Amino acid sequence: MINSQRISAEFARQAAIASPSFKEAAIAKYLKKRFADFGATIEEDNAAHEIGSQSNNMVIRIPGTKPGEPFLLSGHMDTVGPAEGVEPVLEDGVFRSAGNTILGADDKSGLAEIIEALEVLREQKIDHVPLEIVITVCEEVGLLGAKHLDFSLITARQGVALDTTGIDHVIHKAPAANRFKVEIIGQEAHAGVVPENGISAIQIAARAIAQMQLGRVDEETTANIGVIKGGQATNIIPRMVVLEGEVRSHNPEKLQKQTQKMIALLEEEVSKARVTVDGVQIKATMSIELRDDYPAMHVDLQANILQLISSAAEAIDFPIVIKAAGGGSDANIFNKNGVETVIIGTGMNKVHSVEEEVRVADMVQIARLLVEIISRA
Ligand SMILES: [Zn+2]
Repeated sequence: MINSQRISAEFARQAAIASPSFKEAAIAKYLKKRFADFGATIEEDNAAHEIGSQSNNMVIRIPGTKPGEPFLLSGHMDTVGPAEGVEPVLEDGVFRSAGNTILGADDKSGLAEIIEALEVLREQKIDHVPLEIVITVCEEVGLLGAKHLDFSLITARQGVALDTTGIDHVIHKAPAANRFKVEIIGQEAHAGVVPENGISAIQIAARAIAQMQLGRVDEETTANIGVIKGGQATNIIPRMVVLEGEVRSHNPEKLQKQTQKMIALLEEEVSKARVTVDGVQIKATMSIELRDDYPAMHVDLQANILQLISSAAEAIDFPIVIKAAGGGSDANIFNKNGVETVIIGTGMNKVHSVEEEVRVADMVQIARLLVEIISRA
């Protein structure tokens, strides 16, 4: 049913087109042409202009051969780097890059699986509801494409995103995340001559961080300070430190609470840091940029979309596990905008590295599952 040579060729063609985030023009052109072949109408939003990318998000509509609610399929066309000059190499049924770049199986394996499923639906004359295929740009740089997607173009209320590693699981739950950048300003002074005139920004940061609960805070929540930069020389009391951190949680209240705790510790240590020079009191200060990075997603285990996938998987005797993820993806944004979306593994592995790989047999398996899901939607 699935043509393994066809899906393999499809993947190789896409993988050979470099498409790092913001530079998606070539892959967008290819995809438009490819989907037009299925009698699709293709609409674009205005995301390119809004986020400074070469391309817009694409909404591809495949007319149904039977009436029913439209069903959403989704993936992203951008990749992480290094991607320039990517050359897919197929060896013993496994695609890898030639070595110096990523492969781009994240997420081109997903796109190839969608296209192969469409080929099979057409070839086997399998009836299906109207399909809305949403392919975003700039997923790898903070879900920028999805965040700027014009959701008025989307009428589907449920669907699947093909965008996670492995092949044997479905993601129904992912955390929300906050990110912050804090700049602490102390007072510069010669460390050997007049240290009493200085306020060490590094020490303020250190005191605050030492009191923070980081790592796995509880079963639903994680926290991290991932970047710290500051200071100029060993003989200068450092005036400035910049910290970058994040909190993730499946629980929105815990997300806010943990974020506020970390910020409060920084504020407290900053407020305590002061020095008097020539009768003038100098206080440390801080500024903060706090961003809610993405909302949580939580598709109920009883939701229709999960039952649909489970029954499709059962029908082809392909066991899948429903589980939670530790990070956000486009599906978080889709769910927030009223499209109940779960994420299916595409077979990609070792993503975001030059060792990235995907097995043809796994793409075949997922395309098969996809055909079954679509035919039951
Ligand atoms: Zn991805």
